[in-house]
Amino acid sequence: MYTEKEAISRVNSQLEWEVDRLFYDKEEFKIRSNGSKKLHKIYIPTNNTIPFYYLDLLHEYIHALHYEALHPSLLDNGYQGILPTGANTEIKEYFNAAMDWFATGQLTKLCNQKTLQQMEFDYRNIGKVFCPAKTVREHLIVGLVSAQSVRWLKQGPLPGEKIEQVVDAFHRVNPENPTMEKLYLLVSVLFNVFKDYKLKLVKNNGQNSWKIEKNNIPIAHYSQFHETEEK
Ligand SMILES: [Zn+2]
Repeated sequence: MYTEKEAISRVNSQLEWEVDRLFYDKEEFKIRSNGSKKLHKIYIPTNNTIPFYYLDLLHEYIHALHYEALHPSLLDNGYQGILPTGANTEIKEYFNAAMDWFATGQLTKLCNQKTLQQMEFDYRNIGKVFCPAKTVREHLIVGLVSAQSVRWLKQGPLPGEKIEQVVDAFHRVNPENPTMEKLYLLVSVLFNVFKDYKLKLVKNNGQNSWKIEKNNIPIAHYSQFHETEEK
């Protein structure tokens, strides 16, 4: 186990792309990664009194590591980004939730105690803000917090009409060492809970690609590089 700062430098030393750390006035961390430039931009709040400040920073570094790990397989298979081209805000929520599940898997390995404390904190606070979950976004947020709590804290899921199904979807996929196959499976099972979108694997000239459909109409796909955005 490491302190958050030790874990950050450890993960940082495993990264191959350049990292730009940009400080700004907002209260949330985020990362934008660009595979063609091999560059991660990590946006960091100047207010370092935010609870779990360094754990949140570590969370973004882990996203960077996972994007690099997935990126070569995206290229090999003709995919060129974590987010499909044409992805709308709602589709991004599914991908962000999936990538956060993978990030949590790694956080529990690097900074277990602090990560469990953050899960407790999120369980109490997210519960107050978003419960009972109604929209897809609320279900994904509360569902992720619940899936973490059930798996690592042995606490029951928070209320919401479809929360148990969302929790089951997360639990279908082991969060450690993400691969494209795991990402595909997790996004597919999350889509299946709400039935708004369908993820399809398309074979084309020996290459695999993904297509997202809504009402049988393709609306997003992997074909050209798309800058990733993750809050
Ligand atoms: Zn995240």
